[in-house]
Amino acid sequence: MWVVPEKEIAGLMTPEAAFDAIESVFASMARRKAYNFPVVREAIGYEDALYGFKGGFDAAALTLGLKAGGYWPNNQKHGIINHQSTVFLFDPDTGRVAAAVGGNLLTALRTAAASAVSIKHLAPKGASVLGMIGAGHQSVFQMKAAARVNKFERVLGWNPHPEMLGRLADTAAELGLPFEAVELDRLGAEADVIIAITSSFAPLLMDGHVKGPTHIAAMGTDTKGKQELDPALVARARLFTDEIAQSVSIGEYQHVIAGNLVQQDAIGELGAVVTGDNPGREGDEVTIFDGTGVGLQDLAVAAAVVELAKQKGVAQRVEI
Ligand code: NAD
Repeated sequence: MWVVPEKEIAGLMTPEAAFDAIESVFASMARRKAYNFPVVREAIGYEDALYGFKGGFDAAALTLGLKAGGYWPNNQKHGIINHQSTVFLFDPDTGRVAAAVGGNLLTALRTAAASAVSIKHLAPKGASVLGMIGAGHQSVFQMKAAARVNKFERVLGWNPHPEMLGRLADTAAELGLPFEAVELDRLGAEADVIIAITSSFAPLLMDGHVKGPTHIAAMGTDTKGKQELDPALVARARLFTDEIAQSVSIGEYQHVIAGNLVQQDAIGELGAVVTGDNPGREGDEVTIFDGTGVGLQDLAVAAAVVELAKQKGVAQRVEI
């Protein structure tokens, strides 16, 4: 099997390659050539850790495998980040393990690529203002990926912990974009595209904040109970997601489904917009992409990285 260590990923995977891999796997999912397996996510009762697996099979790309890992909130004492994961790929012809790939940076790149795919396909025409809600580890990748697919002129930002806003200011400066920290009512009214990437368990962006036409990439909610958007805002928007089953169980749409504000058949797949089977944005409405993070995203970027690592001679071969 091939091993691609975490420390090699930054030199191999680009946001461009991640974008292509994610757009393509979303299209395969919509064509029913690829499917995700049910997610396992458990509080293991040790070190407050959440541990689990996300897996799937892409019959078009012949990618089979899983990402194992989770969230260890006390990792600072070990000098490593709290999100830890590894992707394992298997040979779909034989079932033999084919690769183990460091999954930490890949997770950030594939998550940012997913919201960028949604922005490319669903942002209002002429979108020029990006609104960022969230200033954690993922926010940097999100802003950079968004700026790759749309020509923004300025960035507005808000975070529940204002002391973290410097991270957004620094990232905008790196991109050559003016940045302003604002309250959520201004962010909602002025931003054409909004990315929400927090670990909130209560709505932050309210219906009255958003004046539209607006595209919202809701990326933070990936677990039961988490929530970033007012259900009334979700109920009046056109809804898209990576995978419907995940969006209604662990994603942002779990709340409007549980509250009976939205029927499941009102939710479209972003992959169907990519393939042209769903028209996507039709006018001046609010669109929402609920990015829940599916296993096939992890497999797609990991498979691309293994090929790049082999070409560059940095993949290690081990017998198992
Ligand atoms: P982080 O710990 O670096 O940052 C956390 C962010 O959430 C900060 O903006 C912080 O101010 C905010 N926050 C923390 N506690 C909060 C609370 N109780 N209420 C409201 N906001 C709070 O985390 P990160 O790595 O940037 O990840 C952000 C979120 O994105 C997490 O919820 C994570 O699970 C999620 N995520 C989703 C995907 C996906 O595929 N959809 C992938 C990776 C991470």
